[in-house]
Amino acid sequence: MVREQIEARGVRDPAVLAAMRAAPRHEFVEEALWPQAYEDHPVPIGHGQTISQPYIVALMSETLEVDPGMRILEIGTGSGYQAAILALMGAEVFTVERVPQLYEAAANRLHRLGFETVHVKFDDGTLGWPEYAPYDRIIVTAGGPKVPVPLVEQLADPGLLIIPVGSTKRSQRLVIIRKQGGRISKREKGGVMFVDLIGAHGWQG
Ligand code: SAH
Repeated sequence: MVREQIEARGVRDPAVLAAMRAAPRHEFVEEALWPQAYEDHPVPIGHGQTISQPYIVALMSETLEVDPGMRILEIGTGSGYQAAILALMGAEVFTVERVPQLYEAAANRLHRLGFETVHVKFDDGTLGWPEYAPYDRIIVTAGGPKVPVPLVEQLADPGLLIIPVGSTKRSQRLVIIRKQGGRISKREKGGVMFVDLIGAHGWQG
């Protein structure tokens, strides 16, 4: 998976590659889907949601410029896989999920697999997780119509936020927001396809 899907497409960050070699991706999908777990596409995790394609997880993790010890907020826990990758890269991860069953399954799974530096919350993540702000990095793994204001507010300075944004559902561009010296700059990376970010600062459910 790492060699053919990730290194071959240009991801070079050694910490990302090591984390993706170490994480048991099959543990994050149901047993019937184990044969697909390492394939080059998203896999259903129930409730209309998916665990992202391995390459997209790698690309976003590399774009996030993670250093060990950083505090990272993730919106859209899903299976917990992305959070596990960031934890394996040495980060302390705060992750928020809005579907109760997915929240519960991910929290149990991460605990069972020993990811003690991942904290999971059941809530509307477009509001962030104010109690533990500010965050060095924020990653949103669902696509919204705009960048949620609370997330920009909860981003540290310096800090980096990455989120798929699209004017219609199902197709977005990866938006990268950098906060530095009190200033906010924005750039865009390629097109992506994520499930919907639903919430007060996302799409309406
Ligand atoms: N990062 C996940 C991918 C999850 S798919 C993984 O590694 O498996 C996106 C997830 O975002 C879904 O589980 C969906 O329920 C969740 N989501 C959508 N809107 C949300 C919101 N406002 N707050 C928290 N989670 C949200």
